[in-house]
Amino acid sequence: LSDRLSGIFSKLRSKGRLTDADVDATAREIRLALLEADVALPVVKAFIFRLKERARGAQVSQALNPAQQIIKIVHEELVAVLGGQARRLQFAKQPPTVIMLAGLQGSGKTTLAGKLARWLKAQGNQPLLVACDLQRPNAVNQLQVLGQRAGVEVYAPEPGNGTGDPVQVAKDSIEHARRHMRDIVIVDTAGRLGIDTEMMAQAAAIRDAVNPDEVIFVIDAMVGQDAVATAEAFRDGVGISGVVLSKLDGDARGGAALSVREVTGQPILFASTGEKLEDFDVFHPDRMASRILGMGDVLTLIEQAEQAFDEEQKEKMAAKLLGGEQFTLEDFLDQLIAVRRMGPIANLLGMMPGMGQMKDQLAELDDSHFDKVTAIIRSMTPGERSTPKILNGSRRARIARGSGVTVTDVNQLLNRFEQAQKMMKQMGGMMGLPGGGRRKA
Ligand code: GDP
Ligand code: MG
Repeated sequence: LSDRLSGIFSKLRSKGRLTDADVDATAREIRLALLEADVALPVVKAFIFRLKERARGAQVSQALNPAQQIIKIVHEELVAVLGGQARRLQFAKQPPTVIMLAGLQGSGKTTLAGKLARWLKAQGNQPLLVACDLQRPNAVNQLQVLGQRAGVEVYAPEPGNGTGDPVQVAKDSIEHARRHMRDIVIVDTAGRLGIDTEMMAQAAAIRDAVNPDEVIFVIDAMVGQDAVATAEAFRDGVGISGVVLSKLDGDARGGAALSVREVTGQPILFASTGEKLEDFDVFHPDRMASRILGMGDVLTLIEQAEQAFDEEQKEKMAAKLLGGEQFTLEDFLDQLIAVRRMGPIANLLGMMPGMGQMKDQLAELDDSHFDKVTAIIRSMTPGERSTPKILNGSRRARIARGSGVTVTDVNQLLNRFEQAQKMMKQMGGMMGLPGGGRRKA
């Protein structure tokens, strides 16, 4: 929990409404948090602009104070920008699927090639690693060592064959994969320390030779502000279909993720988190969002606040019931919704003495049944919901028509409701609470 955020947090805690001043003050802090995480300035500006729009239009939450509410919006917005649900790899209809890796030297391409190969093999694929970095001495050997560790074949030019032509190696590797039934080809390429046209031209030539299903841009999460220029160069020079962030085990807050996502418009597919082959996972936008903002703790607090609010509602309901107020169809529906959310509570209730009957009722509540009950209750007038006794034959017929069910369905629901109502009275009595089970006169 960064000091600055917690500061703004307590400052705004006592206020009740989401004012422009609240939004501006919190947005300023978020802006700094993003810049500290090395998100590129234009990306920060665009993000803050969208944030303000959304925060100003937001309804005031009863559970959260304004700062909490804005931070929640920030987090949601970040998760959305970072890609919502992570995308999977695109596979070719006709194997082999070709995955080409591109990025600056040292970004982690070769390491990623090994990780991907291991990961794909564990899923039952037969990958082939292809060494197309013939620029750096030892690059081929590095891939061979990784391939051996992953238990995956490496396709490389014969040693001592002069410099070798990476485009030809790439082309030949596809033929090799076909002959040897390799279903995924991972093409490792050379990078330079900076962007240069020769490197980009070579990458584009390799791309044209292998016609990849994915061109994965690998970027070191530590690069910070340079992320935008690098991503733009690869986007324009080779074309990118997906991104992998590497070195997320370092202490970078990972603002590059947001910058690259904005610039390329392409999803972040994986996160690389160490030098070992198993230090690798699919990308989780929500974790990344928390990391960029440096606010895991804040989010826990927000969740707790929302839960507490739920508790408060439940307590109000209990007080109402046990205080002897009438249990209405409206309450019945609220409870059904709550029970449905809780799920296994039906089993718990079943274990309590005298609750077996309720368990059976709850077990019946599959989705379609629940939708039906909801529709029936929503088709009633407020008067009917609070005083079900007035539900005579013609009212029941009208409700059945209105909710698209039979009159029998309506009758069944009302019987069940009556039982629940009785049970509520008994429960109030059992707990010995004042006024338990009595209706208000
Ligand atoms: P390439 O030049 O793009 O092929 O990059 P390499 O795969 O050779 O990686 C460059 C260096 O970074 C090597 O020393 C790797 O061990 C290291 N490296 C790669 N990925 C990661 C990572 O996720 N975490 C850490 N800590 N080191 C990494
Ligand atoms: Mg390499």
